[in-house]
Amino acid sequence: MYIRKKDKQLFEELDENLTLPGNWNKFIFDIKKTHNLIIKMSSNEFYCTNCKSIFIKSNLKVSDYCVCPKCKQELIIRNKTLKHCEFKDNLGVLQKYQDYYILRHFEIITYYCNGNFRTDVCEYGRQIFNDKFYKLHEIINDHIICNTGGTTIRHNGLLLGYDWHYFNSHWRGLGDILIYYPYNLKELFNGTQWQYSQLWILAQKERYFSIEFLLRTYRPSIELLIKLKLYKLALNPRTFDKEGNFEKRFGVDKSYLKYMQKHNIDINELDVLKYSKIKDIRILKFFSGYNLNDLKTYNIDLRKLKKFTNIERTNFYEYVDYLNMSRELRYDMKSKKILYPDNIEESHNRVQKLYKVNKDKKIDKKISRISKKLMVNIYQNKKYIIFPAKSIDSLIDESNQQSNCVQSYAEKYAERKCDIYFMRLLDNQDKSLVTVEVRDNKVVQQRTKNNEVTTKEQQQFLKLWEEKILNRA
Ligand SMILES: [Zn+2]
Repeated sequence: MYIRKKDKQLFEELDENLTLPGNWNKFIFDIKKTHNLIIKMSSNEFYCTNCKSIFIKSNLKVSDYCVCPKCKQELIIRNKTLKHCEFKDNLGVLQKYQDYYILRHFEIITYYCNGNFRTDVCEYGRQIFNDKFYKLHEIINDHIICNTGGTTIRHNGLLLGYDWHYFNSHWRGLGDILIYYPYNLKELFNGTQWQYSQLWILAQKERYFSIEFLLRTYRPSIELLIKLKLYKLALNPRTFDKEGNFEKRFGVDKSYLKYMQKHNIDINELDVLKYSKIKDIRILKFFSGYNLNDLKTYNIDLRKLKKFTNIERTNFYEYVDYLNMSRELRYDMKSKKILYPDNIEESHNRVQKLYKVNKDKKIDKKISRISKKLMVNIYQNKKYIIFPAKSIDSLIDESNQQSNCVQSYAEKYAERKCDIYFMRLLDNQDKSLVTVEVRDNKVVQQRTKNNEVTTKEQQQFLKLWEEKILNRA
């Protein structure tokens, strides 16, 4: 793709002027620490490849994460038979050149092979922003290979001559969810609208977020949240843009702050905390992400729900469904037995059956009422008669005889969204002939068996009926 001369010049200038920031090696060193394993040597003996020590612990499984008791690094547990694996992270370094902000994208990869580690870092992309953080350019170099399946970074220490270019059409663009180099940010934002943002602290505490999003949509609540050490909540600052005291802002009173800090709770966990007011991180994590609004109606106690039911092995929304149906069936929604059934699926299915029957009964009543009103539209000549459907059963019967789907119109009919009539031969009124749908006093559908079209004679009859009866003044 053609690159304008002026832009090309800028890209070349960046190559000449951008260097790696001062604490780069420390930054990489800290990330490399996380590219380690805890190797399961025997049933309760573990080896940490980070601090190279052995520790004894029981009840640890392969693929779990575990904090090494010596170096305190949280690492994944692997079996000693593991031969190869790799660790990958995407890093971002934000720098300034003239009036531009440059976000440099790096990938760090560590290959593990038979007890040896090898790490490689390379820069593959740059995003160039103006001083308001609007994106001007996005460029990539030869380290990145784009194809329809996505992108891969080619790590090759020999590739020195960068050739910066725009992306091709297959490319989804550089993401901005990265681990950010934190140590230069305070200085970088000095004298700008972000100088009190505390984002340099956030970048040390949180991995993988979008700094672009936080800068572009900057609001003072970011600063407040980071100062309160509520780092995960700082990633959704808009929610906390409220006037007033702690409780107004967070939905729980200030006595919860320490607890919120301790677990660095995120916005979904806060929703559970607001609902339950329970300081139990397992409850918060378990119910995080679910819409609890429906549970509010029934005052569900999440601890009881987790203790007395099999909610851990079932679908959360099946439970909500169960509650809503139970209410419609006028069950006692204060009874423990109803609110916390020990087998949710079983109770759900049982209630659903009753619910369907009950609902059909209601619809049937409505249809019977409507059909009585529609009797005034009964019309006949020497050959045909037309009359309204009287019940769900009559709709089912019509559906079966005609092989059509009029039975599925029962609810619409009951709500008067459409009216359903049967047109039949005067001397054979039990046998289906034409199924007729009417809306706003107009015939909108007329079908014979298998949804075939009606004859001329049948159409004439319906036309007359529409004019003389449905549209009589
Ligand atoms: Zn260790």
